[in-house]
Amino acid sequence: MHTEDHIIRTIAVMTSGGDAPGMNAAIRAVVRRAISRGLKVYGIKRGWLGAVEGGEAITELDWASVGGILQRGGTILGTARCHQFMARDGRRQAAIHLYRLGIDALVVIGGDGSLTGAMILQEEWPELLKEAEALGAIDLPDGPIPPLRIVGLPGSIDNDTYGSDMSIGADTALHRIVTAADQLTSTASAHQRTFVIEVMGRNCGYLALASALASGSQWVIIPEEELDARWHQKMVRSLRRGRDAGRQHALVVMAEGARHPDGLPLEASTVKTILDKRVGETRVTVLGHVQRGGSPSAFDRILAMTLGAAAVDHLLDAKEDGTPVMMGLRENQVVATPLHEVIENSRRVVDLIDAGEYGKAMNLRGVSFQSQLNLLKTLTASEAKPETDRGNLLILTTGHDAPGMNQVVRVAARLAMNKGYRVLGALYGMEGLLQGQVRELGWMDVSGWAARGGSELGTGYYLLEEPDLPVLEDVLKSLEISAIVLVGGTSVYRSAHLIASRLDAYPGLAIPTILIPASINNNVPGTDFAVGADTALNNIIQAVDKIKDTAGANKRVFIVQVMGFHSGYLAILSGLASGAEDVFIPEEGISLKQIVEQVKKLRESFARGRRLSIIILNEMASPTYDVHMIQRIMSEEGGDLFDVRSIILGHIQRGGSPTPFDRILGARLAASAIEALTTLDWQETKVRVIGLRGNQVVSESINDALAEMAWPQERPKDQWFMRYLDLVRSLEI
Ligand code: ADP
Repeated sequence: MHTEDHIIRTIAVMTSGGDAPGMNAAIRAVVRRAISRGLKVYGIKRGWLGAVEGGEAITELDWASVGGILQRGGTILGTARCHQFMARDGRRQAAIHLYRLGIDALVVIGGDGSLTGAMILQEEWPELLKEAEALGAIDLPDGPIPPLRIVGLPGSIDNDTYGSDMSIGADTALHRIVTAADQLTSTASAHQRTFVIEVMGRNCGYLALASALASGSQWVIIPEEELDARWHQKMVRSLRRGRDAGRQHALVVMAEGARHPDGLPLEASTVKTILDKRVGETRVTVLGHVQRGGSPSAFDRILAMTLGAAAVDHLLDAKEDGTPVMMGLRENQVVATPLHEVIENSRRVVDLIDAGEYGKAMNLRGVSFQSQLNLLKTLTASEAKPETDRGNLLILTTGHDAPGMNQVVRVAARLAMNKGYRVLGALYGMEGLLQGQVRELGWMDVSGWAARGGSELGTGYYLLEEPDLPVLEDVLKSLEISAIVLVGGTSVYRSAHLIASRLDAYPGLAIPTILIPASINNNVPGTDFAVGADTALNNIIQAVDKIKDTAGANKRVFIVQVMGFHSGYLAILSGLASGAEDVFIPEEGISLKQIVEQVKKLRESFARGRRLSIIILNEMASPTYDVHMIQRIMSEEGGDLFDVRSIILGHIQRGGSPTPFDRILGARLAASAIEALTTLDWQETKVRVIGLRGNQVVSESINDALAEMAWPQERPKDQWFMRYLDLVRSLEI
């Protein structure tokens, strides 16, 4: 708690600059974590403007004041641009207001402009206070002036802040863009039109690139990429090729900061004029502020709460010298980066683009940004250009279906064709394959699959057994398969393991095989995320948001049962993202004592005036206490203080169009899978699993992957997301 011998007792939180969905979740986490750690918390309204104005703009926040805001877009504190704060007089005013309230530290949620303001205030703090004293506005104690501590959080839909792989709001903006692109695709195909979609991003192509990849768009224009003098001819050629190949529609996504080769702004209307003349009827849609709006996605809520709680913990626990930092998420870990580093690097990209140094700007965006751009370019070529004949590649979606499987097949199939494979898709998963049911996939056959839920090839739960192996060997032989891509969850891991362990007996199965994890439960080893889990999570939180609305005037506890099999992933993360009171998970099991204690806590809080409570229950949390029994016990013990309802969400969790995250993950894993098939040495290991670890796509043998699995529960021994359990429990009651 000590920094330069000063104990932090009072903090303030503000949102500043452009608003971003998820800011409320961050405010909630900052306030509740601070209160639970014994701090007094003020909320500053309208960003720096509120700090300069003081008075009612800076008010104390309590636990209840941030209730019910998690799912709301925008920011309850409001935000503004404030020119007064750009001048020293304005900052002195702000310092006076903060000092008078005894505020020792500020948590600033905003973009690099807002964070720059914070850093300047922090640097000038002692001087500003001395000036204020000289003016008679405040009295300073004898001795050194206590410093102002600052922690920033990246709040910007553009995702242009250095120091965090994602900023708060970017994932939700992607949701909005991709939904709009899907809708435009359907009207575009009906009329054989081309659409140009302009998305936000003055200096950052992240939203444009990621949404183009997720929506299956044909062309992208971003500020970081240098357009050559003939860029329009290349674009026209690509779109024409697509149309000639049978594509019914085309989407071009451009960032608002796109530039001509000479550096001047490139307007969407210019792109339209070119396409109208040379490709066909083209319409422009400028998405504008819808990208900022609406309820935050599951990822943004979780990111915001994680960073919000970490900001308070950093203020109280960090052993550093009080340097201002920004909390960010890098490689799936919370990291504090000095604010000056954040600001310098974020600015540097802008300067490099202005100076026409595109290559350097692109380098600062990182390897994964560049590889996504390359991937998009390969995918938007309208037909395969094989260099060599690599034989037949078999793709199979099997086990329970997961949203995003179609994107995996689409990307894997097209890239495989590019590498010279003929691609066969097995129908209805492993069972269909054993009956020899396959269909050849051409380039256009998978068009439009990025947006589709379920599995177009068909899938089904089937565990391969020893007697199936000779049958499978025959099928693969007759189809002359030279490589296999398996897409699915735990059942595919087990089937793949059986194949890998019986190669001696069935040498015809010794075919390079790569497994791409797809499971809404996220209960498979070898990857931090399986394709489909993010969609399921969003399905759950949207359902819970609606359930909350139905409580009305009644005092209610809802017990919501979610999937997840023996893994608490969906329960913990949806519990966090929906503001649940508690979660019941298989990793802990459920005891009667736990239920009774929960009822006691609920009775106390409902007696104090609480109206609504959510408890998330994993489907396998306990063999004894199922959702109905827990409901009855809680009803009985709750008396007339509250009413208890149980809801089993069921298959709704699997359904619907995949989220941008699942589509991008699917594309990345599929691309790396095809790359691995054509570049790795397959002599020793015939069956490999590909997955995302931190930011890296990595592959390992099926045996190594399964060594990480806990049996008989069938879940990874080490589940990184268990760290969120405390956060769920600490932000409630
Ligand atoms: P964002 O935080 O989204 O990047 P802006 O760049 O508009 O948004 O910055 C928000 C606010 O932060 C500004 O209106 C201003 O009050 C403050 N700010 C930005 N840059 C500075 C600066 N160089 N010095 C002081 N305050 C700044």
